[in-house]
Amino acid sequence: MILSKNPYSGETLEEHREFTSEDIDKALEKADSRFKQWSKTTFEERAKLMKKAAEELKKNSRDYAETISREMGKPIKQAIAEVEKCAWVCEYYSENAESQLKDLEIETDADQSYVRYAPLGTVLAIMPWNYPFWQVFRFAAPALMAGNVGVLKHASNVMMSANNIQKVFERAGFPEGCFQNLVIGSKKVEEVINDEHVKAVTLTGSTKAGSAVAAAAGKKIKKTVLELGGSNALVVLKDADLEESVKVCVQARFQNTGQSCIAGKRLLLQESIADEFMEKFKKAVKDLKSGDPMEEDTYIGVQAREDLAEDLEDQVQRSVKQGAKIELGGKREGAYYQPTILIGVTREMPVFQEETFGPAIGVTTFKDVDEAVELVNATNFGLGVSVFTQNMEEAKKIIPRFEDGAVFINELVKSDPRLPFGGTKGSGYGRELSHLGIREFVNIQTVYIN
Ligand code: NAP
Repeated sequence: MILSKNPYSGETLEEHREFTSEDIDKALEKADSRFKQWSKTTFEERAKLMKKAAEELKKNSRDYAETISREMGKPIKQAIAEVEKCAWVCEYYSENAESQLKDLEIETDADQSYVRYAPLGTVLAIMPWNYPFWQVFRFAAPALMAGNVGVLKHASNVMMSANNIQKVFERAGFPEGCFQNLVIGSKKVEEVINDEHVKAVTLTGSTKAGSAVAAAAGKKIKKTVLELGGSNALVVLKDADLEESVKVCVQARFQNTGQSCIAGKRLLLQESIADEFMEKFKKAVKDLKSGDPMEEDTYIGVQAREDLAEDLEDQVQRSVKQGAKIELGGKREGAYYQPTILIGVTREMPVFQEETFGPAIGVTTFKDVDEAVELVNATNFGLGVSVFTQNMEEAKKIIPRFEDGAVFINELVKSDPRLPFGGTKGSGYGRELSHLGIREFVNIQTVYIN
């Protein structure tokens, strides 16, 4: 049995019977036979259904959001915003997929030569619980628009949301088999990857899970896209607008109760403004309202499971043992971890080197830009970095020195359907979103006619 449990109340919400091997076979056969027809539909037909999915998400955003909040503790306002963002990605690909995948003529010695983008078949998506709707839709909207079909292996603690996502596509009128939720735990993933009907795999999750899944897919020579963990830095330079950067940094670290891959987990402050920044930052973090995720004015909910809060507590404690000081917070009650600021953080400490997946931030100071760049690049992650400065000339000089998949100036790292999203190093490979994301799961076919 797979359980959906409310991390705020401790109540068991639903028990889900796990698929047997027979159930998995049936679902994958259904997906494959649907693909044979779906891949022949026109962009116009697909776009019509994808627009309906967007309408369904907007119409019932509150219902879907309430399940998210109950199942993984996300404050309700943030859960509604997540569902609405999913409507945006559906609309974006319904409007752009056709032009993004149109044949590309290339002049050569041939009479005619061009590239066409053909769908692959069934794509397996292995997804995390932290944005239980968004992570899935940013895969599903481009995949379905490209003519693929999808099967989902969602995180075990958000199976109600996983079933709701299948419902969104059914209600939108997608033919049966276009998108199916497989109710399975991670032990059954390899069996699915090995199935001949599965052509490619995408995983959003931890670096450990990504490595295991890529190894299994590699054995079968199946393509993977990996969107893994991160430890983004927020770099505040001496000429930053402090009021504004405090606001953005608080949101960058604490939204979604700190459980975001692209959250700013390391705060790097230039020495000359560190005290002034910290005074404002500490006050703003203190003012964040913790509470019941179902209350409209709650900003910090609980973590999605108690063991996640325990992990964070352990990372903070190990860093304190190495000399960091707790400036704010640092206490845990069940799945709730107080918004926490650690100062005096050095690069060897767990809160610097490991991914902290909850409401805690480590603060490190630096002397000059060279040291800041070195600190940013000093982890095995590479999702994104935010730099705060009013000196645009300086900012543009720093950008090429970062190793990350994204550099944001005076803004938190965020995903946008129009821009590619993905990491380097231990944060994974491949890109989602934009014209590049939709071209990950296609056969880039060269055609040469003489
Ligand atoms: P996780 O434990 O890695 O789980 C992610 C998914 O992988 C779940 O569906 C999980 O299933 C499955 N899984 C775990 N171990 C597996 C294995 N050995 N073989 C096959 N499947 C396996 O991550 P999480 O705790 O759900 O999510 C948090 C992590 O996701 C963080 O590291 C975060 O940074 C990352 N993340 C990255 C992005 C990005 O875009 N780069 C976005 C969001 C989150 P079970 O639940 O059944 O174990």
